[in-house]
Amino acid sequence: MSQFKTDGIVLGSLRLTGADKLITILTRNMGKIVGAAAGVRRLRNRFGSALEPFSYCRLVLLRKRADLLFRINQADILHSFQSIRENMEQVELASWMVNLIKAFTAEEIPNPGLFQHLLICLEAIEKKNAPGLLPAYFELHLLKYVGYQPKLDRCIKCQGPLGKDGCCFLPSAGGVLCARCGDGSPEPLLSPGAVALIQHLLKADLSVLSRLKPSLRQVYEVQDMLKVYDHYLLEKKLHYRRYNPFSPDDSVRSLSKP
Ligand SMILES: [Zn+2]
Repeated sequence: MSQFKTDGIVLGSLRLTGADKLITILTRNMGKIVGAAAGVRRLRNRFGSALEPFSYCRLVLLRKRADLLFRINQADILHSFQSIRENMEQVELASWMVNLIKAFTAEEIPNPGLFQHLLICLEAIEKKNAPGLLPAYFELHLLKYVGYQPKLDRCIKCQGPLGKDGCCFLPSAGGVLCARCGDGSPEPLLSPGAVALIQHLLKADLSVLSRLKPSLRQVYEVQDMLKVYDHYLLEKKLHYRRYNPFSPDDSVRSLSKP
């Protein structure tokens, strides 16, 4: 029997028979793992709320062989993120984030940068330090950590600069065509301002997001591009909302699609 100690963030769970659950966790050192937790549905079980969605905990995992499931032997809460679970809008945003991570990651491929990224984005949601740009910020950095960062510095066909007429994003190439090469393309259009916003979001620290002042149109262009790109990469449509960065509480209020 091998023993592993790592920190992890709970991405979700699945009920098994009796009081047992399968828990999906993004760990700091081992990537995404799935572990069985015995007795987790009984009242006053030994795990407390450590295995609730979004919980950040210190884990002791056991496994007999590499082809068998982990068994979660111990889970101690480092930060519960309980307040996220008590707020419908925060739950919705955090759930969308963990579902994207589940969809984009394979099991047991270490990605400590992605782990840290999820942790700071959950902290931002909890502290309401979450201007409406947080979803796009989260997603762009997620794409970077899983190897699909969009290439926006030049046209992927003619290698020329993008120019003032904007460009269109080609999901199959993960890059953009300049206005001349992409003429007539049905792919989503990105204005120069939207391209600059993406490049800014990829470089910026989360703490400076609230200082960015894009137009609503630029934000929607970025969101639409990410939606099309995700559909292509995952070969399925995920539930998507448009987030308005200019909602009064600087939070994550949605707008219906115009
Ligand atoms: Zn071109």
